[in-house]
Amino acid sequence: MKSLKHGEHIVGMDIGGTKMMACVFDHKFKVVGRCKKKSTSGKDEKPEDRISRIIQEAIEDAGGAKISGIGVGVPGPTDPVAGIIMDTPNLGWKKFPLADVLTKKFDVPAVIDNDVNLGTYGEWRFGKVKDCKHVIGIFPGTGIGGGIIVNGALYHGISGAAGEVGHMTIQVDGPYCGCGKRGCLEGMASRLAIAADIAALAARGDAPYILKNCGTDLANIRSSAIAKAIDAGEKMVEGVVRKAAFYTGIATANLVNIFSPEAIVLGGGLVEAMESLYMEEVTRALKIHTMPFPLKFVKVVPAKLGDDAVVMGAAHLIVERL
Ligand SMILES: [Zn+2]
Repeated sequence: MKSLKHGEHIVGMDIGGTKMMACVFDHKFKVVGRCKKKSTSGKDEKPEDRISRIIQEAIEDAGGAKISGIGVGVPGPTDPVAGIIMDTPNLGWKKFPLADVLTKKFDVPAVIDNDVNLGTYGEWRFGKVKDCKHVIGIFPGTGIGGGIIVNGALYHGISGAAGEVGHMTIQVDGPYCGCGKRGCLEGMASRLAIAADIAALAARGDAPYILKNCGTDLANIRSSAIAKAIDAGEKMVEGVVRKAAFYTGIATANLVNIFSPEAIVLGGGLVEAMESLYMEEVTRALKIHTMPFPLKFVKVVPAKLGDDAVVMGAAHLIVERL
Protein backbone atom coordinates (compact mmCIF):
# COMPACT_ATOMS: atom_id res chain seq x y z
CA MET A 1 0.00 0.00 0.00
CA LYS A 2 1.57 3.30 -1.10
CA SER A 3 1.58 6.17 1.35
CA LEU A 4 2.08 9.91 1.45
CA LYS A 5 5.07 11.69 2.94
CA HIS A 6 4.63 13.60 6.17
CA GLY A 7 3.11 17.02 5.37
CA GLU A 8 1.69 15.94 1.99
CA HIS A 9 -2.03 16.44 1.24
CA ILE A 10 -4.41 15.08 -1.39
CA VAL A 11 -8.03 15.69 -2.36
CA GLY A 12 -10.76 13.04 -2.65
CA MET A 13 -14.03 14.07 -4.27
CA ASP A 14 -17.46 12.49 -4.67
CA ILE A 15 -19.60 13.88 -7.50
CA GLY A 16 -23.17 12.72 -6.95
CA GLY A 17 -26.35 13.44 -8.83
CA THR A 18 -27.66 15.59 -5.98
CA LYS A 19 -24.59 16.48 -3.86
CA MET A 20 -20.88 17.00 -4.38
CA MET A 21 -18.27 16.67 -1.63
CA ALA A 22 -14.52 17.27 -1.63
CA CYS A 23 -12.23 16.42 1.29
CA VAL A 24 -8.58 17.26 1.86
CA PHE A 25 -6.64 14.41 3.52
CA ASP A 26 -3.33 14.56 5.31
CA HIS A 27 -0.62 11.87 5.03
CA LYS A 28 -2.48 9.64 7.50
CA PHE A 29 -5.71 9.90 5.45
CA LYS A 30 -7.29 12.07 8.12
CA VAL A 31 -9.79 14.64 6.81
CA VAL A 32 -8.39 18.13 7.43
CA GLY A 33 -10.71 20.13 5.13
CA ARG A 34 -14.16 19.52 3.71
CA CYS A 35 -16.69 21.19 1.41
CA LYS A 36 -20.11 19.76 0.53
CA LYS A 37 -22.68 21.44 -1.73
CA LYS A 38 -25.65 20.64 -3.96
CA SER A 39 -24.60 19.41 -7.42
CA THR A 40 -26.19 22.35 -9.22
CA SER A 41 -26.13 25.95 -8.05
CA GLY A 42 -29.30 27.07 -9.81
CA LYS A 43 -27.15 29.69 -11.58
CA ASP A 44 -25.39 29.29 -14.93
CA GLU A 45 -22.33 27.64 -13.40
CA LYS A 46 -20.78 24.85 -15.54
CA PRO A 47 -20.39 21.55 -13.62
CA GLU A 48 -16.58 21.63 -14.06
CA ASP A 49 -16.43 25.16 -12.61
CA ARG A 50 -18.57 24.09 -9.67
CA ILE A 51 -16.35 21.05 -9.05
CA SER A 52 -13.22 23.26 -9.09
CA ARG A 53 -14.84 25.73 -6.71
CA ILE A 54 -15.80 22.98 -4.24
CA ILE A 55 -12.24 21.59 -4.33
CA GLN A 56 -10.87 25.12 -3.81
CA GLU A 57 -13.16 25.69 -0.80
CA ALA A 58 -12.12 22.34 0.73
CA ILE A 59 -8.47 23.42 0.33
CA GLU A 60 -9.27 26.74 2.01
CA ASP A 61 -11.06 24.82 4.80
CA ALA A 62 -7.76 22.93 5.26
CA GLY A 63 -5.97 26.25 5.81
CA GLY A 64 -4.81 26.52 2.18
CA ALA A 65 -2.91 23.22 2.27
CA LYS A 66 -0.74 22.51 -0.78
CA ILE A 67 -2.08 19.41 -2.51
CA SER A 68 -0.23 16.70 -4.47
CA GLY A 69 -3.12 15.12 -6.38
CA ILE A 70 -6.89 14.78 -6.83
CA GLY A 71 -9.04 11.63 -7.02
CA VAL A 72 -12.67 11.89 -8.10
CA GLY A 73 -15.62 9.47 -8.05
CA VAL A 74 -18.28 10.16 -10.69
CA PRO A 75 -21.71 8.64 -11.33
CA GLY A 76 -21.73 6.60 -14.52
CA PRO A 77 -19.16 4.73 -16.60
CA THR A 78 -15.63 6.11 -17.00
CA ASP A 79 -12.44 5.42 -18.90
CA PRO A 80 -10.23 5.44 -15.79
CA VAL A 81 -6.97 5.22 -17.75
CA ALA A 82 -7.69 8.26 -19.95
CA GLY A 83 -9.52 10.05 -17.12
CA ILE A 84 -12.65 10.51 -19.19
CA ILE A 85 -16.25 10.46 -18.00
CA MET A 86 -18.13 8.51 -20.67
CA ASP A 87 -21.73 9.43 -19.93
CA THR A 88 -23.44 11.23 -17.04
CA PRO A 89 -26.99 12.26 -17.96
CA ASN A 90 -27.35 14.12 -14.61
CA LEU A 91 -24.51 16.52 -15.36
CA GLY A 92 -24.96 16.59 -19.14
CA TRP A 93 -21.49 15.18 -19.89
CA LYS A 94 -20.50 12.80 -22.68
CA LYS A 95 -16.83 11.84 -23.11
CA PHE A 96 -15.74 14.64 -20.79
CA PRO A 97 -11.98 14.76 -19.92
CA LEU A 98 -12.43 15.69 -16.25
CA ALA A 99 -8.99 14.45 -15.11
CA ASP A 100 -7.26 16.73 -17.67
CA VAL A 101 -9.44 19.70 -16.77
CA LEU A 102 -8.57 19.34 -13.06
CA THR A 103 -4.88 18.78 -13.78
CA LYS A 104 -4.75 22.03 -15.77
CA LYS A 105 -6.71 23.94 -13.14
CA PHE A 106 -4.78 22.77 -10.04
CA ASP A 107 -1.47 21.77 -11.65
CA VAL A 108 -1.42 18.32 -10.00
CA PRO A 109 -2.18 14.76 -11.24
CA ALA A 110 -5.86 13.79 -11.19
CA VAL A 111 -7.66 10.44 -11.56
CA ILE A 112 -11.32 9.56 -11.90
CA ASP A 113 -13.33 6.38 -11.52
CA ASN A 114 -16.92 5.34 -11.08
CA ASP A 115 -18.27 6.40 -7.66
CA VAL A 116 -19.44 2.95 -6.56
CA ASN A 117 -16.14 1.42 -7.67
CA LEU A 118 -14.39 3.96 -5.45
CA GLY A 119 -16.85 3.32 -2.61
CA THR A 120 -15.85 -0.35 -2.80
CA TYR A 121 -12.16 0.66 -3.01
CA GLY A 122 -12.53 2.87 0.07
CA GLU A 123 -14.22 0.11 2.06
CA TRP A 124 -11.50 -2.29 0.93
CA ARG A 125 -8.61 -0.02 1.95
CA PHE A 126 -10.05 1.52 5.09
CA GLY A 127 -12.94 -0.73 6.15
CA LYS A 128 -13.18 -4.25 7.56
CA VAL A 129 -11.77 -6.19 4.56
CA LYS A 130 -8.24 -4.76 4.28
CA ASP A 131 -6.60 -8.18 4.20
CA CYS A 132 -8.69 -9.60 1.34
CA LYS A 133 -7.52 -9.80 -2.29
CA HIS A 134 -10.92 -10.44 -3.86
CA VAL A 135 -13.79 -8.25 -2.69
CA ILE A 136 -17.20 -7.33 -4.10
CA GLY A 137 -19.14 -4.30 -2.87
CA ILE A 138 -22.94 -4.08 -3.20
CA PHE A 139 -24.68 -0.84 -2.30
CA PRO A 140 -28.50 -0.91 -2.29
CA GLY A 141 -29.97 2.58 -2.01
CA THR A 142 -32.02 4.72 -4.39
CA GLY A 143 -30.36 2.60 -7.11
CA ILE A 144 -28.11 -0.44 -6.59
CA GLY A 145 -24.43 -0.07 -7.44
CA GLY A 146 -21.48 -2.39 -7.08
CA GLY A 147 -17.73 -2.67 -7.43
CA ILE A 148 -15.45 -5.64 -8.04
CA ILE A 149 -11.88 -5.97 -6.75
CA VAL A 150 -9.94 -8.90 -8.21
CA ASN A 151 -6.35 -9.62 -7.17
CA GLY A 152 -6.21 -6.33 -5.29
CA ALA A 153 -7.30 -4.10 -8.19
CA LEU A 154 -10.60 -2.68 -9.36
CA TYR A 155 -12.02 -4.65 -12.28
CA HIS A 156 -13.34 -2.40 -15.09
CA GLY A 157 -13.85 -4.73 -18.05
CA ILE A 158 -13.22 -3.64 -21.63
CA SER A 159 -15.92 -0.93 -21.56
CA GLY A 160 -15.02 0.50 -18.16
CA ALA A 161 -18.56 -0.25 -16.99
CA ALA A 162 -18.00 -3.55 -15.12
CA GLY A 163 -19.53 -3.99 -11.70
CA GLU A 164 -23.10 -2.98 -12.52
CA VAL A 165 -24.54 -5.55 -10.14
CA GLY A 166 -27.83 -3.63 -10.00
CA HIS A 167 -28.58 -4.63 -13.57
CA MET A 168 -28.18 -8.36 -13.03
CA THR A 169 -31.37 -10.04 -14.25
CA ILE A 170 -33.15 -11.60 -11.28
CA GLN A 171 -36.61 -12.23 -12.80
CA VAL A 172 -36.93 -12.56 -16.58
CA ASP A 173 -40.39 -10.99 -16.84
CA GLY A 174 -40.03 -8.77 -13.76
CA PRO A 175 -40.80 -5.04 -13.42
CA TYR A 176 -39.10 -2.41 -15.61
CA CYS A 177 -35.80 -0.99 -14.36
CA GLY A 178 -34.48 2.55 -14.88
CA CYS A 179 -32.13 1.12 -17.56
CA GLY A 180 -35.11 0.12 -19.69
CA LYS A 181 -34.79 -3.66 -19.20
CA ARG A 182 -37.06 -5.91 -17.19
CA GLY A 183 -36.35 -7.78 -14.00
CA CYS A 184 -33.00 -6.21 -12.98
CA LEU A 185 -32.07 -6.37 -9.29
CA GLU A 186 -32.35 -2.56 -9.14
CA GLY A 187 -35.89 -2.63 -10.57
CA MET A 188 -36.90 -5.14 -7.89
CA ALA A 189 -34.92 -4.26 -4.79
CA SER A 190 -33.79 -0.61 -4.87
CA ARG A 191 -35.21 1.93 -2.43
CA LEU A 192 -37.49 3.19 -5.21
CA ALA A 193 -38.82 -0.33 -5.91
CA ILE A 194 -39.40 -0.90 -2.19
CA ALA A 195 -41.03 2.54 -1.81
CA ALA A 196 -43.43 1.77 -4.68
CA ASP A 197 -44.66 -1.40 -2.93
CA ILE A 198 -44.87 0.37 0.44
CA ALA A 199 -46.78 3.34 -1.06
CA ALA A 200 -49.39 0.87 -2.30
CA LEU A 201 -49.64 -0.61 1.22
CA ALA A 202 -50.00 2.88 2.69
CA ALA A 203 -52.67 3.89 0.15
CA ARG A 204 -54.86 0.96 1.10
CA GLY A 205 -54.40 1.39 4.85
CA ASP A 206 -51.89 -1.40 5.55
CA ALA A 207 -48.99 0.89 6.56
CA PRO A 208 -50.41 3.62 8.82
CA TYR A 209 -46.98 4.84 10.07
CA ILE A 210 -45.85 5.43 6.47
CA LEU A 211 -49.14 7.09 5.48
CA LYS A 212 -48.97 9.46 8.46
CA ASN A 213 -45.26 10.34 8.21
CA CYS A 214 -44.43 10.07 4.50
CA GLY A 215 -47.69 9.98 2.52
CA THR A 216 -47.64 7.98 -0.71
CA ASP A 217 -45.09 10.01 -2.72
CA LEU A 218 -42.15 7.65 -3.43
CA ALA A 219 -39.57 10.42 -3.01
CA ASN A 220 -40.68 10.87 0.62
CA ILE A 221 -40.53 7.18 1.58
CA ARG A 222 -36.87 7.23 2.65
CA SER A 223 -34.81 4.37 4.07
CA SER A 224 -34.86 5.85 7.59
CA ALA A 225 -38.68 6.14 7.57
CA ILE A 226 -39.00 2.56 6.30
CA ALA A 227 -36.79 1.40 9.19
CA LYS A 228 -38.96 3.31 11.69
CA ALA A 229 -42.16 1.79 10.25
CA ILE A 230 -40.67 -1.68 10.77
CA ASP A 231 -39.69 -0.75 14.35
CA ALA A 232 -43.27 0.45 14.84
CA GLY A 233 -44.44 -3.09 14.00
CA GLU A 234 -45.63 -2.70 10.40
CA LYS A 235 -45.31 -6.34 9.32
CA MET A 236 -46.21 -5.86 5.66
CA VAL A 237 -43.58 -3.12 5.30
CA GLU A 238 -41.08 -5.51 6.86
CA GLY A 239 -42.17 -8.22 4.41
CA VAL A 240 -41.55 -5.93 1.43
CA VAL A 241 -38.04 -5.05 2.66
CA ARG A 242 -37.18 -8.67 3.51
CA LYS A 243 -38.14 -9.74 0.00
CA ALA A 244 -35.94 -7.00 -1.54
CA ALA A 245 -33.05 -7.91 0.78
CA PHE A 246 -33.44 -11.58 -0.20
CA TYR A 247 -33.29 -10.64 -3.92
CA THR A 248 -30.11 -8.71 -3.12
CA GLY A 249 -28.86 -11.92 -1.54
CA ILE A 250 -29.67 -13.92 -4.71
CA ALA A 251 -27.58 -11.45 -6.76
CA THR A 252 -24.83 -11.80 -4.15
CA ALA A 253 -24.97 -15.60 -4.43
CA ASN A 254 -24.61 -15.37 -8.23
CA LEU A 255 -21.54 -13.16 -7.77
CA VAL A 256 -20.01 -15.56 -5.24
CA ASN A 257 -20.55 -18.49 -7.64
CA ILE A 258 -18.76 -16.59 -10.43
CA PHE A 259 -15.97 -14.72 -8.59
CA SER A 260 -15.47 -16.71 -5.36
CA PRO A 261 -14.50 -13.55 -3.42
CA GLU A 262 -13.20 -13.58 0.14
CA ALA A 263 -15.56 -10.81 1.18
CA ILE A 264 -18.79 -9.15 0.20
CA VAL A 265 -19.20 -5.61 1.56
CA LEU A 266 -22.82 -4.57 1.94
CA GLY A 267 -23.46 -0.83 2.15
CA GLY A 268 -25.78 1.88 0.83
CA GLY A 269 -28.71 3.74 2.38
CA LEU A 270 -31.00 0.72 2.84
CA VAL A 271 -28.30 -1.34 4.56
CA GLU A 272 -27.23 1.57 6.78
CA ALA A 273 -30.86 1.99 7.92
CA MET A 274 -31.63 -1.74 8.36
CA GLU A 275 -28.30 -3.50 8.76
CA SER A 276 -29.34 -6.58 10.74
CA LEU A 277 -32.33 -7.30 8.47
CA TYR A 278 -30.12 -7.05 5.37
CA MET A 279 -27.36 -9.21 6.85
CA GLU A 280 -29.95 -11.85 7.82
CA GLU A 281 -31.67 -12.03 4.42
CA VAL A 282 -28.48 -11.87 2.34
CA THR A 283 -26.91 -14.61 4.47
CA ARG A 284 -30.10 -16.72 4.12
CA ALA A 285 -30.10 -16.30 0.31
CA LEU A 286 -26.39 -17.12 0.15
CA LYS A 287 -26.96 -20.43 1.98
CA ILE A 288 -29.73 -21.37 -0.45
CA HIS A 289 -28.20 -20.18 -3.73
CA THR A 290 -24.40 -20.39 -3.42
CA MET A 291 -22.47 -23.53 -4.31
CA PRO A 292 -21.20 -25.08 -1.06
CA PHE A 293 -17.47 -24.84 -1.84
CA PRO A 294 -17.11 -21.08 -2.60
CA LEU A 295 -19.57 -20.38 0.25
CA LYS A 296 -16.99 -21.72 2.74
CA PHE A 297 -14.49 -18.97 1.81
CA VAL A 298 -16.68 -15.87 1.75
CA LYS A 299 -17.67 -13.53 4.55
CA VAL A 300 -20.33 -10.84 4.37
CA VAL A 301 -19.54 -7.63 6.22
CA PRO A 302 -21.44 -4.35 6.54
CA ALA A 303 -19.73 -1.24 5.13
CA LYS A 304 -18.35 1.11 7.77
CA LEU A 305 -17.36 4.36 6.05
CA GLY A 306 -20.86 5.66 5.18
CA ASP A 307 -20.84 8.88 3.13
CA ASP A 308 -17.03 9.05 3.25
CA ALA A 309 -16.40 5.76 1.36
CA VAL A 310 -16.17 7.39 -2.09
CA VAL A 311 -13.90 10.30 -1.08
CA MET A 312 -11.62 7.92 0.81
CA GLY A 313 -11.47 5.51 -2.13
CA ALA A 314 -10.80 8.43 -4.50
CA ALA A 315 -8.05 9.76 -2.22
CA HIS A 316 -6.43 6.36 -2.05
CA LEU A 317 -6.61 5.88 -5.82
CA ILE A 318 -4.66 9.08 -6.49
CA VAL A 319 -2.03 8.11 -3.94
CA GLU A 320 -1.58 4.80 -5.80
CA ARG A 321 -0.93 6.79 -9.00
CA LEU A 322 1.42 9.47 -7.62
ZN1 LIG B 1 -31.50 -2.32 -15.07
